[in-house]
Amino acid sequence: MRIYLSRPHMSGYEEQRVAEAFSSNYVAPLGPQLDAFEASVRDYLGHDVHCIGLSSGSAALHLALRIAGVGPGDEVWISSMTFAGGIFPVNYLGAVPRFFDLDRENWTIDTRHVAEELAKAAVENRLPKAIVPTDLYGQSVDLSALEALATHYGVRLIVDSAESLGASIGGRKAGTGGDAAVLSFNGNKIITTSGGGMLVTRHKHWADQARFLATQARDPAPHYEHSTYGYNYRLSNICAAIGLGQMQVLEARVARRREIFTRYQRTLDRPGITFMPEPSNRLSSRWLTALAIDPETTGLTREDIRLMLLEHQIESRPLWKPMHMQPLYAGAPYHGSGFDERLFANGLCLPSGSDMTDEQQDEVIERVAVLLDMGR
Ligand SMILES: *Cc1c(COP(=O)(O)O)cnc(C)c1O
Repeated sequence: MRIYLSRPHMSGYEEQRVAEAFSSNYVAPLGPQLDAFEASVRDYLGHDVHCIGLSSGSAALHLALRIAGVGPGDEVWISSMTFAGGIFPVNYLGAVPRFFDLDRENWTIDTRHVAEELAKAAVENRLPKAIVPTDLYGQSVDLSALEALATHYGVRLIVDSAESLGASIGGRKAGTGGDAAVLSFNGNKIITTSGGGMLVTRHKHWADQARFLATQARDPAPHYEHSTYGYNYRLSNICAAIGLGQMQVLEARVARRREIFTRYQRTLDRPGITFMPEPSNRLSSRWLTALAIDPETTGLTREDIRLMLLEHQIESRPLWKPMHMQPLYAGAPYHGSGFDERLFANGLCLPSGSDMTDEQQDEVIERVAVLLDMGR
């Protein structure tokens, strides 16, 4: 591949931070770099939150669901269009998902469907244990609507902000919502620790529980004493050191991803091409540039474009396949009008890495534009 969808983009600060960790021999999971990385994310979020560095975003979601009390047979309500790591922890706990469609105005969970279904479930005494909406492709979900619903029905809200560090809604930063939010620092995310995640929560009790469960649930005792089971889920201090270097350039990375999106939108805007919207009170990090291609209007499918780009070693990817369409979740309940199904059929993410050069983006634009103008 010559041009990637989204690659790790080092700033040059990371090596220094890793070297500091090495020279002090803090090569074990915990250490001063991890403390500093957690503090740095907390300062960035600028909110009264606790941050716990973990080995992945999936681990963060697993812990959040467990702390929320999710167990075998419980329902977890979740955006159908999401990535595996944003739902598999529901399976780890033996819980069952109920899926929700996206809102066409913002491409995040449709809160009207959630509200309707909560009202019904309350009457029928089958409320979920938790709701897990996904901040899709860098766009925050409607936090105030979801928080109001969660509070009203006494349901836990865990926001999957793995794709949206750097985004905000109504001035509130993504990652500060709900009872807890999940961040990911996987290699393809807006910043990376080479693999890692974070649980962000405003409840001190949740933070304490997360730290306890993430380090093998060791009760206070000189020997190893366990009243419950835990996990080995802490972020390594070395990886946290990489994250410290990355945090120095987070704002710049968001600005660059937004610039890339705007350039695609300006140059590829045509009848039948719909870019992911950005409602007026939301600032998307534009983690990935997502768009939909209407085959009737353009005479092309998203596969025509993807395969053409692939021939030139340019990576693009269909939008996430909705989970209610996956064999694993066949038969699971789904609420919506199939907007996410149509987005999956027609949607494509274009190369969006912050390290992509203008020349590389010009090439992508040129190739897509030629095909679109031929198609019509
Ligand atoms: C990346 C991602 C995750 C999981 O993150 P990992 O760090 O890869 O475990 C969860 N949810 C969504 C929506 C993601 O994009």
